[in-house]
Parts: sequence; C-alpha cells; structure tokens
Amino acid sequence: MLRKLFWMNNKIISILETKDVNPTAVRIVVLELFFRHKHALSLQDLEEKLPWSDKASLFRTLKTFEQHEILHKIDDGHKAAKYALSVEHHDEHHHLVHPHFHCVKCHKTICLDPQKLHFSTVPKGFQITDYSLVIKGVCKDCV
Ligand SMILES: [Zn+2]
Ligand SMILES: [Zn+2]
Repeated sequence: MLRKLFWMNNKIISILETKDVNPTAVRIVVLELFFRHKHALSLQDLEEKLPWSDKASLFRTLKTFEQHEILHKIDDGHKAAKYALSVEHHDEHHHLVHPHFHCVKCHKTICLDPQKLHFSTVPKGFQITDYSLVIKGVCKDCV
C-alpha cells in the first residue's frame, strides 16, 4: 500500500513538473483524486472529498490544471461543470476533442474515445471554434 502511494505521488509530481506546474501539496492531492476516480469531478466533488481544504484554493488548482492542459472542462448539462484528466493517455489523441458519456442515474461523466469521431458533417469553409457532445444514458453500474 505504502509502496503504491509512493509510486502514485512520484507519477503525479513528474506530471506536474513536465507541465511546468509547481507541485504544491494541494495540487498533488487534487491530481491524485482525478487519477483515483475514473469519472469527471466538479469543484463541489473536490470540496466533499477534501473537507480540510478551502474552496478558493481548489478552484485555483482546477483553473491552473485547465490552463496547463492537465485537466479539461466538461459541461454535461448537470449542475456545475466537471473536469477530467487530459494527461492519462500518453498518445496523440488525448488533446483531441472527444465525446463524453453522462449517466442520468448516478450523474457520473466519463471521457469517450475520440478516434471514431469525424467532423466531415461541417460544411466546407466552416470553422469549428468550440465543440461539445454529451451522450446521455445509464452506465454499467446503474443498469
Ligand atoms: Zn451510473
Ligand atoms: Zn473528456
């Protein structure tokens, strides 16, 4: 267990360093939470999971992570915006826009594989500036 925690912290610190983010205690704890949860987390989720921390510094941490492309923001239409990891998969696809799946029962949101997504439906000469696709349904834990 301790060994695993140690490995986890090292991984998180190295991600922060490669993204030019100073590895402060709150940043390490927040990023660790995102690695432990397979679904997206909102500011409120972070507050509930880290009751000792203050909301302002959690908010700043999310913004910093978003700016440094460690996390990306998702608007799944349910309450507040959620955030999910952008750095988990070290392949060329992780920066691509991708759809999300929102479970209407447990309200968890996950990232979906972008590889099967095409933008050929946008007419020639049109430019995409923003993109959001949320597929709603029931996840396998809630079926
Ligand atoms: Zn669910
Ligand atoms: Zn995503």
